[in-house]
Amino acid sequence: MRKKLVVGNWKMHGTRAANAVLLAGLKELGPWNAQVAVCVPFPYITETALAVTGTAVAYGAQDCSAHEQGAYTGEVSSAMLADLGCRYAIVGHSERRAYHHESDQLVADKAKAALAHGVTPIVCVGETLQEREEGRTEEVVKRQLAAVIHTLSHCIGEIVVAYEPVWAIGTGKTATPEQAQAVHALLRQQLRAATHKADAMQILYGGSVKPDNAAVLFQQPDIDGGLVGGAALKAADFAAICRAA
Ligand code: PGA
Repeated sequence: MRKKLVVGNWKMHGTRAANAVLLAGLKELGPWNAQVAVCVPFPYITETALAVTGTAVAYGAQDCSAHEQGAYTGEVSSAMLADLGCRYAIVGHSERRAYHHESDQLVADKAKAALAHGVTPIVCVGETLQEREEGRTEEVVKRQLAAVIHTLSHCIGEIVVAYEPVWAIGTGKTATPEQAQAVHALLRQQLRAATHKADAMQILYGGSVKPDNAAVLFQQPDIDGGLVGGAALKAADFAAICRAA
């Protein structure tokens, strides 16, 4: 049986004071049966680490550099994330693909860099509304995942995949459980062709996951938890989603 995983993606939100309240709330409301993690802005990693010590909450970052080290002003390497005890790094979030022009290959290279330092990449894939309406969902998510499979080759079984339809992110429009399951099943099929570990891999759903829709999404056979944005910023909501997993 795959263990469920719920990851909070704080995006560019938070202050030291607000984070302390949120993390203290999670400490109080946990633990849960699911694995739980928060991916926080870089400057808050150390304080998050201190706040979750002794709890079951893991932590990570929302991106990492594809480079090892060097003259890359503004970049943060996966070695640094490992040094800070990060368990996860989100890579290829649609906001980075769209606003920072990250290509499928760059996302794959970031995933490789993370794994090289023992940081588990949470690789996001997902189609835009236009791509869905054009009937291209399958082609798009397969292309995005194929780049990662090709680049990681035999290490592909070590990643977490997150299916996040772009039209469902931050919009309040969740994919129906059936729509999400259909894509998750496709992704798992693609992973099966690449690794014997496919059935043990966690494939998360993301896009307007809330306390009231989490349970039915997480009940789908190939949905192994969630990547949660907006609802991860309130301890009670995030805890309710963790409980549903
Ligand atoms: P959302 O974001 O839950 O606010 O839709 C999810 C994500 O972008 O990871």
